[in-house]
Amino acid sequence: MERLKEVKIESIKGISKTMIEHLHNHDIYTVYDLLNYFPYRYENYEVVNINRVEHNEKVTVVGQIVSEPVFYYFQRNKNRLTFSMLVNDLIIKVVAFNRDFLNNKISKQMYVTVTGKYDKIKKQIIAQKLQLKAQDDDKIVPVYSLKNLKPIHFQGIIRKALDQYGYLINDDLPLSLQNKYRLVSSLDVYKFAHFPVNNEQVRQVSRRVKYEELLKFQLKMAYLKYRDRKNFIKEPKIFDESRVKVFINNLPFTLTNDQMKVINEILHDLKQNYQMNRLLQGDVGSGKTIVAVIALYANYLSGYQGCIMAPTEILAEQHYRNLVDIFKGYGVKVELLTSSITGKSRQIILDDLINGKIDIIVGTHALISEGVNFKNLGFICIDEQHRFGVNQRKILKEKGDRPDALFLSATPIPRTLALTTFGDMDVSSIREMPKGRKPIKTYVIGSDLEQRLVSFIDKEISSGRQVYIITPLIEESEKIDLENAYNVYEKYQQYFLGKYQVGLLHGKMSNEEKDNIMHKFLNNEIQILVSTTVVEVGVNVPNASVMVIIDAHRFGLAQLHQLRGRVGRGNHQSYCILVSDYDNEKSRERLEILTQTTNGFEIAEADLRLRGPGDFFGSRQSGLPEFKMADLINDYKILEVARDDANIIVSSGELFTNPEYFALKAYIERELIDTNELFD
Ligand code: ADP
Ligand code: MG
Repeated sequence: MERLKEVKIESIKGISKTMIEHLHNHDIYTVYDLLNYFPYRYENYEVVNINRVEHNEKVTVVGQIVSEPVFYYFQRNKNRLTFSMLVNDLIIKVVAFNRDFLNNKISKQMYVTVTGKYDKIKKQIIAQKLQLKAQDDDKIVPVYSLKNLKPIHFQGIIRKALDQYGYLINDDLPLSLQNKYRLVSSLDVYKFAHFPVNNEQVRQVSRRVKYEELLKFQLKMAYLKYRDRKNFIKEPKIFDESRVKVFINNLPFTLTNDQMKVINEILHDLKQNYQMNRLLQGDVGSGKTIVAVIALYANYLSGYQGCIMAPTEILAEQHYRNLVDIFKGYGVKVELLTSSITGKSRQIILDDLINGKIDIIVGTHALISEGVNFKNLGFICIDEQHRFGVNQRKILKEKGDRPDALFLSATPIPRTLALTTFGDMDVSSIREMPKGRKPIKTYVIGSDLEQRLVSFIDKEISSGRQVYIITPLIEESEKIDLENAYNVYEKYQQYFLGKYQVGLLHGKMSNEEKDNIMHKFLNNEIQILVSTTVVEVGVNVPNASVMVIIDAHRFGLAQLHQLRGRVGRGNHQSYCILVSDYDNEKSRERLEILTQTTNGFEIAEADLRLRGPGDFFGSRQSGLPEFKMADLINDYKILEVARDDANIIVSSGELFTNPEYFALKAYIERELIDTNELFD
């Protein structure tokens, strides 16, 4: 297509000055721009059988007039025409306004074509279009977004451009792929898009354009992956797999199939000669840590040091205790490094780290500070990876010589978006929960039921449990958020005065204060923890069984699901109570999803459907690609096919060696020059 991009519209034979101006106003400068200015929809005058039409559907029907047409005049110059007509085997009524000019032309027995919305109950069409003939061919009319320019003139200029420059249209897609999926050629794309004779052609345009867009997009991703692999050659890791098996068999539980699958993917990566760059996503409680631990063990067996970085001290301490416990008897030396470890103890750790006396170090951001150096860091794991910036992840990686990297995420991303946003990472998912988990019971209630909620909380605490109460965080006004949290805190203190301890946690507290409160909650010195969403990150308090979320409709579904994941971590039946005086159907529908499933992937997909990709990602992720026709949600199947094709084309090297693919290769190389910010 490159040559078409160089042909200015001025060179189209017979194009007028005003037309050029009009086209410029629509940002159309070249013949390529012109041909790719696709209709945004089509008016469909394809004749249909009236019996197969839905109520209020817009249709075009052909039939014979069976009653004398009647004109009724009202107000000054308005009139209404009515008649009955026989369509297929049905008699329907037709109403048309202001058709006075038909007065002497329309009569009983005539065949007419009527377009308009069909009211199935009244058996009536209000005609938008009425033609005094039986139209026999399908008719599809493109609708463009045009200002001050008649579609017919616009189409005229496209026709001219196609006649004059059609020979310059070449195909980026190789014939082999066109044949494989029976795709129309790119010349036909332009003919059918701008001058369709039936719906089928419109459909073929969309199939072809969507596939091409998604293939190009996935090729870019695959290309980057391939390029990265070449740039990040590492020493393959060698370890005794039977020892890993023994380790797995000695665990106090059996791994789920999903966990095993991911472990095998990681062990495979360790043995390759390129760095692993893998995201592991799985619901809260799905058992991601143990997967990382097994990878750390294999890495240890290969003779390398490893580390886990977590976003908070509490979480790091939890991982540390857990690892010490699991590695008991394996001769693995595990240490902890946080910013509260200072002075002499810190120095000892730093020395041991660089001398190789420590095998695995668990820590917070403290791990990426200067002065922390390893002897031979071979594997890094970052827990709750979204809490760290790109740069922080990079610094940790650079503490080793091209270590393998595993990122853990408890925010399941719908399949589609995982394919696109993490295109240059490999993505593994754990969708299955360990056996024997009691699903959390979830209810949506109005605030009028608060008294019952209070007695429920009382009952749970008196049987030994603990309770979270979350108050909303609205970014615009931290002050109000804080007030909210305080109010709830004071209210519950009043309710349970002298009976239970209530604690408050919010974002304005120092890390020390927060940790202090969390420790008290962990030790059951506090029974009710009122908190803003700061509690979100992975702390484990297995004794907590109730999660109350106030004004739940103000949260995203994924966030609610995360919060709910704070409970249900012990053996007790757990509950999530969503308090909301929701004001519309849609928020109700959203909250109801949570009562129906506890699977984070399903929730993320439902959320995406309800909100669309823009909202789903918020302003954070503006890097989503824009397509002319493809749609990441609805065209998921095509996306998957395109991804597989792209991976084969790139990994086989054909992109670089097979002339069939040179147009695509050139396209990708051009594109990547100005989009590298997407892929850092
Ligand atoms: P998350 O994925 O949220 O990080 P964790 O790794 O903290 O979850 O696991 C939650 C709990 O489940 C831990 O106590 C862990 O020991 C336990 N666990 C992990 N895998 C299994 C399993 N296959 N069967 C039973 N319990 C498991
Ligand atoms: Mg975790």
